[in-house]
Amino acid sequence: MSELIFEERADQIHVKGEGPFKLACNRESLAGAVSQRACVFCGSRVVLYPIADALHLVHGPIGCAAYTWDIRGALSSGPELHRLSFSTDLQETDVIFGGEKKLEAALLELIDRHAPKAAFVYSTCIVGIIGDDLQAVCKKVSAAKGIPVIPVQSEGFKGNKREGYLAACKAMFTLMGTGDTSDIGPLSLNILGDFNLAGEIWIIRDYFRRMGIETVANITGDGRVGDIARAHGAALNVVQCSGSTMDLAKMMKEKFGIPFVKVSYFGIEDMAEALYTVARFFKDKDPNMLERTQELVREELAVLYPRLQELRRDLEGKKAAIYVGGAFKAFSLIKAFRHLGMSVVIAGSQTGTEEDYEELAQICDPGTIIVDDANPLELSAFLKEKDVDIFVGGVKERPIAYKLGVGFCDHNHERKEALEGFVGMVNFALEVHRTVMSPVWRFVPRRAGNRPDASLACGSVEERS
Ligand code: SF4
Repeated sequence: MSELIFEERADQIHVKGEGPFKLACNRESLAGAVSQRACVFCGSRVVLYPIADALHLVHGPIGCAAYTWDIRGALSSGPELHRLSFSTDLQETDVIFGGEKKLEAALLELIDRHAPKAAFVYSTCIVGIIGDDLQAVCKKVSAAKGIPVIPVQSEGFKGNKREGYLAACKAMFTLMGTGDTSDIGPLSLNILGDFNLAGEIWIIRDYFRRMGIETVANITGDGRVGDIARAHGAALNVVQCSGSTMDLAKMMKEKFGIPFVKVSYFGIEDMAEALYTVARFFKDKDPNMLERTQELVREELAVLYPRLQELRRDLEGKKAAIYVGGAFKAFSLIKAFRHLGMSVVIAGSQTGTEEDYEELAQICDPGTIIVDDANPLELSAFLKEKDVDIFVGGVKERPIAYKLGVGFCDHNHERKEALEGFVGMVNFALEVHRTVMSPVWRFVPRRAGNRPDASLACGSVEERS
């Protein structure tokens, strides 16, 4: 394995139990290592994308827009303008003479055509290089059309995906404080860092509704410009996926005095704890809040547990690998796999912080490989070394798993299955069961030699090939 790890990356990999825990992280990806991370622009795009009544215009070459077109399975209960990807399609002459005129013309035409509530204009690598004045063009068009036209300073090269999250938060923050908050009650919150993949935010909103709490703004799944503009009227910010919207929560705390709590909606313990955390926050305003929340959790668990026990019988003892964008998800997944009788032997993330990895190291079993900002070669080597039964990741990890003949569960933004909430835990368990127990893995040549029950079947495949 060690020959596949670049010397410069050695301090970003740790095997739990082999020496004191120390992991380098939150730094630029090593050039040439083909990081699994996305660029700054992509980071901004994934955060802002689900705002469904806004226009999203990518100022750059067509490839940047194509790369992020309809990038999340973020559902909308109303408008679907977010699903269209617009680009100024910069060409060589624009690079030489500047793209500002083209940008202005594109904005004017698109705003007339689609009547959005706001427009986000994304800066890409080439715009950062040629120096188009995005701010000036946006200001001019905003004055002409009477809607917020917001520049997103997300030049792809200026850092990693995390910088993109910050650029997106800064862009959204410009909307806040502009809407009417007079009808917002004291039991109210904003949901931050949930993108309504496969309708997940609707599940979470429903839990809060059953607890007696009003959700003011979804940030950003099934998001609306008007809701974001009045989000400063909510009593609490509930932040999931600390990497993507934590900066916004901090800005809102500083400017509007809104406190925030960090939660995860994945897995049983974390989902329940998320609801209890919110209930504890409001308990002085509503003394029955905790009791209602306990009842809600009890009802959900009564449905969930029997299903999990059935699936656990087959999954007991199987091994999982996790490589996700933000480390918060890894914490929840480790706990979720334990409920299924499975162990996590590889855990990594693209954008984890020192604090995240320390927490991760504490909950991992001895021998677990913990990795920051991995690349395909490393991940392949780890998967083979640990001989895992399932790999949980995103779109870029899927082919690695399938090429190695390993089951895969998409836990990233393209998924079509709701994995949040108590119902999400059942969906997750079913998906894990389907892929881990699939008979197809017996035919993988790498494994066939190790498994007596597969050798015959595999032999026949090899004969045919
Ligand atoms: S912004 Fe830069 S790195 Fe990102 S997709 Fe466009 S060209 Fe590639």
